[in-house]
Amino acid sequence: MGHTGGGWESHAEIKFNDCKVPLTNVLGKDGAGFAIAQARLGPGRIHHCMRWIGICERSLDLMCKRAVSRAIAEGEYLSDKQTIQNWISESRAEINAARLLVQDAAHKIDIQGAKNTRAEISIIKFFCADILQKVIDRAIQVHGALGMTDDLILSYFYRHERAARIYDGADEVHKSRLARAILKKYKV
Ligand SMILES: Cc1cc2nc3c(=O)[nH]c(=O)nc-3n(C[C@H](O)[C@H](O)[C@H](O)COP(=O)(O)OP(=O)(O)OC[C@H]3O[C@@H](n4cnc5c(N)ncnc54)[C@H](O)[C@@H]3O)c2cc1C
Repeated sequence: MGHTGGGWESHAEIKFNDCKVPLTNVLGKDGAGFAIAQARLGPGRIHHCMRWIGICERSLDLMCKRAVSRAIAEGEYLSDKQTIQNWISESRAEINAARLLVQDAAHKIDIQGAKNTRAEISIIKFFCADILQKVIDRAIQVHGALGMTDDLILSYFYRHERAARIYDGADEVHKSRLARAILKKYKV
């Protein structure tokens, strides 16, 4: 999507050539590095969701500011249009729902551990990523052409955060895993 990355928030490919690690610095068993790297994923996903909720809040805030300030006719503003009102209300409801789901998953991680909270982690991963995309998209739409430019942060959010539905398990993988767990109880 033309997002070249760069800076602290981006990703880098690292190659280690002839790298030597002193024995005292080794974490875990030899050859178990991948497992250690993957162990961060469960709790890591909840951090993504919290970040996405913050991005949603900022996008909704921009959406509302634009809606009340953009005159479309004499004394009439975007905020007077029902479609825009719907987007604002739907965004508010969805962000609130996402926040409660994330709090629920966080609470369960605390009391029963990440391994036993896999279903809730899958739910927040695909639910919050979906809400994120919807809210940013609505905010861009309310800004018209301005929303496409880099004068606002919205276009950056859209480019950068589209990956939310792909990394740390694509939507389809989480939904498939969750459905399999639900269906287990129904197997005859
Ligand atoms: C910004 C960014 C950051 C990333 N960070 C990391 C990182 O820190 N660590 C890391 O290990 N990886 C990272 N990744 C890689 C990421 O995990 C993979 O891109 C992701 O797992 C999808 O794999 P893939 O790109 O090979 O696509 P593919 O495996 O080719 O999948 C393509 C599409 O096929 C569908 N699909 C795939 N598998 C299934 C399935 N089982 N059931 C149904 N549908 C399916 C999904 O729609 C998926 O989007 C990152 C990727 C991005 C874009």
